Amino acid sequence: MTQLERQQWDVVVVGAGGAGLRAAIEAREQGARTAVICKSLFGKAHTVMAEGGIAASMGNVNSGDNWQVHFRDTMRGGKFLNQWRMAELHAREAPDRVWELETWGALFDRTADGRISQRNFGGHEYPRLAHVGDRTGLELIRTLQQKIVSLQQDDKREFGDYEARLKVFQECTVTRVLKEDDRVSGAFCYERESGRFFVLEAPAVVLATGGIGKSFKVTSNSWEYTGDGHALALLAGAPLLNMEFVQFHPTGMVWPPSVKGILVTESVRGDGGVLRNSDGKRFMFDYVPDVFKEKYAESEEEGDRWYEDPDHNRRPPELLPRDEVARAINSEVKAGRGSPHGGVFLDVSTRMPAEVIRRRLPSMHHQFKELADVDITAEPMEVGPTCHYVMGGIAVESDTAAARGVPGLFAAGEVAGGMHGSNRLGGNSLSDLLVFGRRAGLHAAEYASALAGARPAVDEAQVDLAAAEALRPFSAEPQEGAAPENPYTLHQELQQAMNDLVGIIRRDAEIRQALEKLAELRVRARRAGVEGHRQFNPGWHLALDLRNMLLVSECVARAALERTESRGGHTREDWPAMDRSWRRANLLCRLADPTEGLAATDPVRGQIRLVREETEPIRADLLALFEKEELVKYLAEEELYE
Ligand code: FAD
Repeated sequence: MTQLERQQWDVVVVGAGGAGLRAAIEAREQGARTAVICKSLFGKAHTVMAEGGIAASMGNVNSGDNWQVHFRDTMRGGKFLNQWRMAELHAREAPDRVWELETWGALFDRTADGRISQRNFGGHEYPRLAHVGDRTGLELIRTLQQKIVSLQQDDKREFGDYEARLKVFQECTVTRVLKEDDRVSGAFCYERESGRFFVLEAPAVVLATGGIGKSFKVTSNSWEYTGDGHALALLAGAPLLNMEFVQFHPTGMVWPPSVKGILVTESVRGDGGVLRNSDGKRFMFDYVPDVFKEKYAESEEEGDRWYEDPDHNRRPPELLPRDEVARAINSEVKAGRGSPHGGVFLDVSTRMPAEVIRRRLPSMHHQFKELADVDITAEPMEVGPTCHYVMGGIAVESDTAAARGVPGLFAAGEVAGGMHGSNRLGGNSLSDLLVFGRRAGLHAAEYASALAGARPAVDEAQVDLAAAEALRPFSAEPQEGAAPENPYTLHQELQQAMNDLVGIIRRDAEIRQALEKLAELRVRARRAGVEGHRQFNPGWHLALDLRNMLLVSECVARAALERTESRGGHTREDWPAMDRSWRRANLLCRLADPTEGLAATDPVRGQIRLVREETEPIRADLLALFEKEELVKYLAEEELYE
């Protein structure tokens, strides 16, 4: 039996981004003793990078906005594959979550009459994104951290201990969710600095670990995004939903190579920036799909007038949902009308005075000046698609955020699936984090409290297995004279394969090639070896993360092969149309053999099995929010009939 430090908590939240912190605050406020564990420094989660804003139909800038309009936009953006109840809860509750942030000390930008200002973003009918310049995520995290500190101060006053009911374990990684029978019993963790293992015993675990972007070569995502929570859920027996839907944000930096993929916020277009090809043409007018034709301007003049008079003009097509804009840029570059470094031009310099650009887009101004020596007040930016967000994720119950099939497991934020359907609208992530972070914390606390004395016990054999699995890279044996595999090489090959073969435009033969490459990498990853010791050893950390990235990449590839249509963040060149009959289908990924774990799975056949499941019919009063003519474009015949 492995001798390890153990601590007992009611709720363990894995992840300290927006979703994790909001979940932790709620669980603690419900009276649960709550631990938060995160692999980066506290305050450094990916959420801190969010730029443009948080979507909530407060109607401060256009009083026509309300939750029903927000719901409609979200469903349209997701091409009606959203778990509709999540989209409903999200649209209804987002304004309260933003106002709540203000009461906790957030300082949003204001309108002239002193209300929270809201800006335009792609796919949102009205100006809806509450923001703090282009540094909204920073303010969100700062506020939630401050709230956590204030709760800890309350505990100090009451119990003489800041960490009596809320403790943060920073720079610690969870590698396994532990279970007794089918129920959660805790988490196996290691401290990154010392390499020390420890166990957090708890009947409820909330996964809030963010996304998967680091499986792709060109990405806007931070180093933490190795799909850990997705993999932890799979390994614990929970299914992942619709993993084929990966969002490629249309505007990442393309030059210089060292910064390729870093995000150029959508606010640039929301505030008036336009996309041009090498002929100087605003090409987006050529790419408005039929389903959106009535809602977007037909001429540059109309599009430009919309910024001043949105009630009498239609919005410019630069503000189409992200999947449409990313595909359009891809087509222009492929047709030879790209910029010198393989992107297109995004211009604000001819659209706004320099001082306005510096005020409204301070981070972008700084980012381009520092990283590319481009002054965006005087010249256009070069931009191209970058892997940005995963819509697929842990299949959860809409109201409670409970992961399906594993009592005690909850998920919120980017790691959870369903809310955004096949494509997320900008700004809808930050609101998702708060709405479902809160719900996950609430229901995890209630679940833990209902168990009272009958809590699941940690299974010692599982702890031993988790420790052995984590130590394996230190004892990788050379095979047939070949040295152990280098985790960095494996990671680069994985990223290249996913980028080239399961990227923005997909084809049957290429996805099959990717699956073969993944099978090869899986075999090689078992021989991934590291040198040195457990004290801060990034090669070892990466070797452990590889298990997660390989699992998640296989989910993306298998689901992408199965879905023979194009929808949102999944574009098949060989199946270019959206197929209404696929709207009824969710694809669930499960681990091939959950009872025996990874060792039992055949390395070539793969570790993932796909199951097709029918989507739940959309509630009638929500369907009634749409015109019949619009529904005909999305819904299958039998659904319309029903
Ligand atoms: P994160 O904030 O990423 O937090 C994940 C946490 O999990 C981290 O603390 C991490 O350390 C921890 N973790 C991961 N694995 C483990 C493990 N194994 N063990 C322990 N801890 C672990 N969305 C918007 O709505 N509006 C925007 O304006 C916007 N701008 C964006 C700009 C950029 C540049 C990017 C990249 C994204 C943007 N997004 C935006 C998307 C949004 O930021 C993310 O979807 C969101 O922040 C995800 O939050 P989260 O709480 O789910 O995860």
